[in-house]
Amino acid sequence: MIELPVSFKFRWLDDSGNETGFFSSKRGSFDGETLVLDDVELPVSNILSLEAYEERLALAFISGGMTDSAAFRIYKVSAKDLKQAVDVVRSATWAEMTREKMVEEGRGGAFRTTVCSHCSATVDVSDMPETSQIYCHFCDSLTTKGAGGMPNEHEFGLCEECGMFSKPKRFTIFYFYFLVVIWGYSSRVTHRCPACMRGEAWKMLLGNLPFLIGVPVAIVQLFRCYGGKITGSVVADLDAANLRARKGDMLGALAGYQKVLEQVPFAAGVKYNLALALLEQDEIQRAADSLELAFTDCVNYLPAYSLLAGCYEHLGEEVKLEELRRIWGDDGEEDAEGEEEAAGIEESGGARKLLDEGDVWA
Ligand SMILES: [Zn+2]
Ligand SMILES: [Zn+2]
Repeated sequence: MIELPVSFKFRWLDDSGNETGFFSSKRGSFDGETLVLDDVELPVSNILSLEAYEERLALAFISGGMTDSAAFRIYKVSAKDLKQAVDVVRSATWAEMTREKMVEEGRGGAFRTTVCSHCSATVDVSDMPETSQIYCHFCDSLTTKGAGGMPNEHEFGLCEECGMFSKPKRFTIFYFYFLVVIWGYSSRVTHRCPACMRGEAWKMLLGNLPFLIGVPVAIVQLFRCYGGKITGSVVADLDAANLRARKGDMLGALAGYQKVLEQVPFAAGVKYNLALALLEQDEIQRAADSLELAFTDCVNYLPAYSLLAGCYEHLGEEVKLEELRRIWGDDGEEDAEGEEEAAGIEESGGARKLLDEGDVWA
């Protein structure tokens, strides 16, 4: 973790993600209480959401009673490190505000938090029973207490391409193109699961063959996509099952997920994938069953929350829906407006679990 206070240089990004003010970078700092970006001063409790992607950061915040958002490209300090430093403080601040509010309401006994073993953020699990796994929405990772989880489980997450729980890797899609007299290349960085990357990697290899310079990159990517298979790990089994699920081969996917669960009994993410596949087949009841199992493994698995709420609504399970919303501290009114709005409606005092759900990059 970086030492505080930390100073950095940055440039604001415009709506298209381009840096502005190219010749003059601005100064920023974080002292553990306030994030300063040029003339903007943001106390941590006012930062609703903070996302890091490569060396870019996007944040949603409250300023003058209104919600606002901004994005910037950071220099000299890693975007991930700054995000983590801010998250550790703001999560602890929110947790403390929640504790005070719950004590005031006479519900202090139900207040409960846990610290993420990966990023050290404080995760609020008030009103929720204890489970084998815990989900941290600050670093988007699942942690299993004791044995029975995925190997290196904080490297797992939802794939940007297919939305499934998997082990997304950082791939550079590297295309060379030749335009009569101008040589150029375009390179795009993405977070995808290996199953989604395979087609792209082959295309990249074929596309690069005429221009030999790109081939080594393509071959390395191909090796990474199939790497899991060669070692025959649980990651490869998950990958294979995800692929079958996406092709609509439910029996094959079920058998595949079964195989994964035999090796990794606590796997909210795997049960989440199964639910996604079942929803794809309009099997709402079975999807709900699978999501309930995901919550038995990890009581605060955020990606599953809105899916299960949707299933309950569809199935007319009013009692179950009400109980689900109660433990998530969700009064139900925010859903219709979408996640981004939910972040906006919440006033600064509300340290709600849903706040970070809206991904500014989405
Ligand atoms: Zn974390
Ligand atoms: Zn994928």
